[in-house]
Amino acid sequence: MYRKMSDEVVKELTGIVGEDHVILDKEKMVDYSHDEFSLDWVGHFPEAVVKPKNAIEISQILKLAHKEKFAVTPRGGGTGLVGGCVPIFGGIVLSLERMNRVLEIDKKNLMATVEAGVILMDFYEKVESSGLFFPPHPGDETAYIGGAIATNAGGARAVKYGVMRDFVKGLEVVLPNGEILDLGGKLMKNCTGYSLLHLMIGSEGTLGVITKAAILLMPPLENVITLVIPYGSLYDAIKTVPEIILNGIRPTSVEFIQSDAIPLSEEMLGKKWPCKEGRAFLMIIVDGPTEDEVYRLSETIANICTSNNAKDVLVAENREKQADILAIRSNVYEGLKPNTIEILDLTVPPSEIVNHVDRVCEVSREYDVWLPTYGHAADGNVHTHIMKLKKEGEGFKELKEKEWKEKYPIIRKLLHEDCIKRGGVISGEHCIGVLKKEYIPMALSNAHLEILRRIKRAFDPNNILNPGKIFDL
Ligand SMILES: Cc1cc2nc3c(=O)[nH]c(=O)nc-3n(C[C@H](O)[C@H](O)[C@H](O)COP(=O)(O)OP(=O)(O)OC[C@H]3O[C@@H](n4cnc5c(N)ncnc54)[C@H](O)[C@@H]3O)c2cc1C
Repeated sequence: MYRKMSDEVVKELTGIVGEDHVILDKEKMVDYSHDEFSLDWVGHFPEAVVKPKNAIEISQILKLAHKEKFAVTPRGGGTGLVGGCVPIFGGIVLSLERMNRVLEIDKKNLMATVEAGVILMDFYEKVESSGLFFPPHPGDETAYIGGAIATNAGGARAVKYGVMRDFVKGLEVVLPNGEILDLGGKLMKNCTGYSLLHLMIGSEGTLGVITKAAILLMPPLENVITLVIPYGSLYDAIKTVPEIILNGIRPTSVEFIQSDAIPLSEEMLGKKWPCKEGRAFLMIIVDGPTEDEVYRLSETIANICTSNNAKDVLVAENREKQADILAIRSNVYEGLKPNTIEILDLTVPPSEIVNHVDRVCEVSREYDVWLPTYGHAADGNVHTHIMKLKKEGEGFKELKEKEWKEKYPIIRKLLHEDCIKRGGVISGEHCIGVLKKEYIPMALSNAHLEILRRIKRAFDPNNILNPGKIFDL
């Protein structure tokens, strides 16, 4: 389907970006053959890795790919969890790593202008040192801005402040035929034709290569408190959340987590979660304009939690304690990772979280596989890990390879079906990539999918840009 790249094509690529910025050695391409998702069968080597330094070089590369019909897979930090940046048809990986400049922090307009290869960690630092704040926070800070835009990343603060889509106001994009488009700008309103800007956000590198972005910033959060609330059951924990929101409180974040997922993270970090009792926890972060207001909100939340059978309400006021709690929660993924087959990203209407998690527990018992579950309780985004382990007494036992390979597809199908039945979607923030493609027909109608296919063909008639992702043409 795609032509193998000839020596002449490689020579042309080298001519565009320079010899030092093309990798052909297989050993050096290992890091570019997979993303954070661990299953071996999703990995695939490119024929070359190419590292351009600006939109003009990318335009030349895409013109060549369009003409010679080789696949181009854009890559950011490679922290994706669905194989989105894996070059499943070979061709080239287009790494944005050299395009890593924060070009401007414009305080008057509260906008940053950044290249797509800026690492989130560096961006947070730069924004903070300018006295401003950027709310979206996907759990892995080594992701790039371009990757976060291409996946419309969310994170724990989405409940109050929104996701990447709410902060991206302008984009420079290179289309698959090499044309360079400027979309939007430092604008708070824009009703000028169909929004190609919003089409690009979350398009997983299938419609264009994002090269530059105008990103909205905010004044910093001044007064912040973190609450950790233990419960005897996950059911009680989750059913508290709608009541908090109904009381007119919108916390910065509301995370739920089962207690058995915490020790691995504690052990890894050498830090202690603030309470021992409880089978499930809510971690609620509250911010507000004054200290008094934050205390008032926290007190109301504490009362609601207690009336919903919370065992206690622990308050972390200082930054160090807050950071420890956040670090343990953020590293739950890392703690579970060595024995994780897949982390799901199902999202249901918030009122359905309880029922969906009930179903997860039922499936876990029925198939005797440990399915630790946590997530963003106020926005319905549930992360269940399908593990290679089962529970045994107080500990865990490894499943034989044959056993987990048999159970894994059944479990994931049952959980996806449950999510759809409850009015949910198969991804709230990790996207579809290659991993979840098989469930797209379950999630979208034929008419919906056909429109997506036509959009893809309109942008990319030769299907060279990140082919084989989201859906098959
Ligand atoms: C520990 C951990 C925690 C995470 N927590 C969260 C979370 O809370 N919320 C969340 O939303 N995600 C989360 N993720 C998933 C991941 O971090 C995000 O999807 C992230 O935004 C991906 O960015 P990246 O730069 O690593 O992209 P990559 O993995 O490199 O690529 C992801 C997709 O974007 C495309 N792409 C990358 N750069 C560009 C570009 N410049 N132009 C066009 N397309 C491009 C790729 O082709 C691919 O399809 C987590 C991942 C890990 C490992």
